[in-house]
Amino acid sequence: MKLANLDLAGEKFIALVDTDKTRYWPIQSLVAQFRGGMVHLVQQFDQIKRDLEPRGEGLLLAEAAILAPIDQPRRNIFCVGKNYHEHAAEFQNSGFDSSAKNGEHAPEAPVIFTKPASTVIGPGGKIPGHTGVTSQLDYEAELGVVIGKGGRGIKKADAMNHVFGYTVINDVTARDLQKLHRQWFLGKSLDGFCPMGPHVVTADEVDGQNIDIKCWVNGELRQNSNTSKLVFNIPTLIETLSAGIELQPGDVIATGTPAGVGIGFNPPKFLQRGDLIRIEIQNVGVLENEVGE
Ligand code: MG
Repeated sequence: MKLANLDLAGEKFIALVDTDKTRYWPIQSLVAQFRGGMVHLVQQFDQIKRDLEPRGEGLLLAEAAILAPIDQPRRNIFCVGKNYHEHAAEFQNSGFDSSAKNGEHAPEAPVIFTKPASTVIGPGGKIPGHTGVTSQLDYEAELGVVIGKGGRGIKKADAMNHVFGYTVINDVTARDLQKLHRQWFLGKSLDGFCPMGPHVVTADEVDGQNIDIKCWVNGELRQNSNTSKLVFNIPTLIETLSAGIELQPGDVIATGTPAGVGIGFNPPKFLQRGDLIRIEIQNVGVLENEVGE
């Protein structure tokens, strides 16, 4: 099922959505006692899921604003760098990677960093251009994994049982800051640098380990790959992260971007004001954002 975080006349609520029929059903109309946001829904999902079926005609999705599905994460978004071979190579060849060892094509262990919760914006939200702070704005199409059941010391064999669902993420990056400051945090964490959405698709509907991921800028196809090409797959990422950090329901992992980002081109194709970034992940959704002021 698809679950969205909606806003109708200033009132925020979680809803079951049918994107084909362009209709939605507020969770509270299906489960009377339900209160709260997407993280609460993830926590209570096993108890209420049998009631989460469309009842009646539903309401028109076009009349509500779609917010990021997890617009106020309880903590930072976990992110993975250089997690597709061809992207690891293009990043190293670009000269922007101050973290690579000489001649390294892919890291020997997952490269983990985070983006603060404050970076999250919704579908259709404008990505701030941050003029005067960065002049090298770049996009990164990524599959977002939403954790369901939390835990520490999760093993690979059990890891997929901890995946609640999937969403689409744009890991927006200021390349000049990423390079200058060596640690990636600043270049990845400016306000508005984590477009997310348009909804969460539950894991039973999608094979997150084998789906196409594509990104267009102003209609030009830039990224075109499949999540089966991840260097470190989803179970490995969950095992690595949870070894010493207890994962919590509603945690989000951005799994890394394939080749074709702006710095993969010579000369680089940095984003400009007015550029439209469209990311499509098979059976998960389409996320579109424009670069603003
Ligand atoms: Mg990334």
